[in-house]
Amino acid sequence: MDNPANSNACGRFAPSPTGPLHLGSLVTAMASYLDIKSDNGRLWLRIEDSDSQRSKANFIGLIKQQLIDHGIIWDTWPNPDNKKEGVIYQSERRRIYSYFMHFLISTERTFLCSCTRKSLLKQGDLTEYLKSGEIKYPQICRNRKSGNLSHEKALRFKSTDGDDFVIRRLTTGDFSYAFTVVVDDYLQGVTKIVRGDDLKFTINRNRQIQAILGFPFPKILHVPVVRDSNGKKLSKADKHSKLRGGEFIKKQIIESWTHLRENMPVSWIEKVTPTYETFFN
Ligand SMILES: [Zn+2]
Repeated sequence: MDNPANSNACGRFAPSPTGPLHLGSLVTAMASYLDIKSDNGRLWLRIEDSDSQRSKANFIGLIKQQLIDHGIIWDTWPNPDNKKEGVIYQSERRRIYSYFMHFLISTERTFLCSCTRKSLLKQGDLTEYLKSGEIKYPQICRNRKSGNLSHEKALRFKSTDGDDFVIRRLTTGDFSYAFTVVVDDYLQGVTKIVRGDDLKFTINRNRQIQAILGFPFPKILHVPVVRDSNGKKLSKADKHSKLRGGEFIKKQIIESWTHLRENMPVSWIEKVTPTYETFFN
């Protein structure tokens, strides 16, 4: 394999520590790894723990171990204190997000929203919510002249397609995934993103923020998410999708490859196969 230093390709795997990896997230991690390594690039590991309510510290070590066990070795991100195993944590980057948020605010493409989840569920499209888990924002506060700051719940982005998504939740101070990934992908020089096709709907969100902040658009490759026999996406709560250790690891690697072989150019896998042969020996 060529020296990765000769390639500018950068990818990332960015799990949220709301549970251990499952077969579905292993497939995405494997696809990200194979894709970027076939370009002789580097893969960053980013822990997306910006949701302070749902993220649990104890899953972070477990996720790292699961990746290593399955042969997915990330490249070292140069953290200044050198104590973070080459990984970045979104929970430690609020000041960075805040800096870019203030730039967004200065472009007048944001507004304060006082709607609660409950009030949005009442007014939003419930069928769409049940389908995707997303509530399409009914634009209630977009053109509001003034408000009471203590009642504001979120800072939203004025989207060109009416999908006014959240930038920051003011109740917790957490920044949204739609915003943090764009900032981190830029700062980490990510050139290609590999992710599940269930996230396709976020492309327009990402692109709009990238355009305003003057960031380049990374290429995006969607891999079909793993579904159960009823066509339902595997989730962390699903018992059958749980990853196991020991003798099951090899089977799980093969399972993830099998899923990808059907949907990815075989050359990606062939190019990096030696890594796995070494791993199995
Ligand atoms: Zn609102």
